[in-house]
Amino acid sequence: MKNQSFNQRLLAWFDRHGRKDLPWQQNPTPYRVWVSEIMLQQTQVATVIPYYQRFMQRFSNVLDLANAAQDEVLHLWTGLGYYARGRNLHKAAQKIRDEHQGEFPQDLEQVMALPGIGRSTAGAILSLALDQHHAILDGNVKRVLARYHAIEGWPGTSVVEKQMWQLAEQHTPTKHTAAYTQAIMDLGATICRRSKPLCPLCPQNSECAALAQGMQNQLPSPRPKKTLPTRTTTMLMLENRAGEILLQQRPPAGIWGGLWSFPELNQEQSNDALIQQWCLEQLGHDVAIEERWPSLRHSFSHFHLEILPVYLRSRGQQTQVADNNSTWFSPATPANIGLAAPVKALLTQLSIEIPTLRAS
Ligand code: SF4
Repeated sequence: MKNQSFNQRLLAWFDRHGRKDLPWQQNPTPYRVWVSEIMLQQTQVATVIPYYQRFMQRFSNVLDLANAAQDEVLHLWTGLGYYARGRNLHKAAQKIRDEHQGEFPQDLEQVMALPGIGRSTAGAILSLALDQHHAILDGNVKRVLARYHAIEGWPGTSVVEKQMWQLAEQHTPTKHTAAYTQAIMDLGATICRRSKPLCPLCPQNSECAALAQGMQNQLPSPRPKKTLPTRTTTMLMLENRAGEILLQQRPPAGIWGGLWSFPELNQEQSNDALIQQWCLEQLGHDVAIEERWPSLRHSFSHFHLEILPVYLRSRGQQTQVADNNSTWFSPATPANIGLAAPVKALLTQLSIEIPTLRAS
């Protein structure tokens, strides 16, 4: 295969080995490809498939998505993580409804102007759905190119990224761009894998510079290491007389933006008296502290969150909530709202343990 070009070898390999039966490859409209591309950012194909199918069942077109409540969108996103992706998808659908007459734009600049869509994702949508000639540079493609051309340096730096965009554009053929785009993503996902690349099976192995130099396991160069700080928060799981738990909606921006969570006390140490005083002043509840649960850790890209859950019961009769951003959540009959992963896990545990805790 030495006398063939990079993309000829890739397309021949794709014909025989590429993935062609993924749900978003069937009827690949820009809308369907867009949703899949956003879900696949930072998330494996196998994890995405059931989320994608549920999402498409509920929102089969861009207008269904645009007209839905954000809570419902985030509910269908619960568990996928990186919730800004779900919020941006919803905002972008509204922009398409309001500024593009409900039709997904077909121009690269216009697609890149939608919330949550960068150059690579825009290129992927337009090439995969409409066979337009645009290069892509997602994590898989960066890995293949860094190895094939033996490019050193972390691809997150602008110098290396610029070099990679040039190579991505040089390799992308003007014909069969959709097949090429899918093929290079597949090669990165299934053969030129992050760890233990399967070089003997790779169509590029006769020309790959990293393989020739024995550097396939060192490239692409990793991000320079930094230690992440840890923040601590106390999550107050307050139960009322009806067995419901108080949840508050988080502000739209920031971590878990727009999702529902427990009231939080952000002190390092929160003793019983402090919690009781805070609940009285901030929530209007006189509470009994029932149990402190073991801490759990949730990691974000820029810090670790140490969560200290405390189970409380309100002593009063009050079942009203203070404002629109609060609700009583029944673990037995859960409402369709977006929940952060650790909050969902704690609510599940509460639904199992509340009957026992109440009896004790
Ligand atoms: S030969 Fe190995 S390192 Fe090179 S592109 Fe193929 S799988 Fe990746």
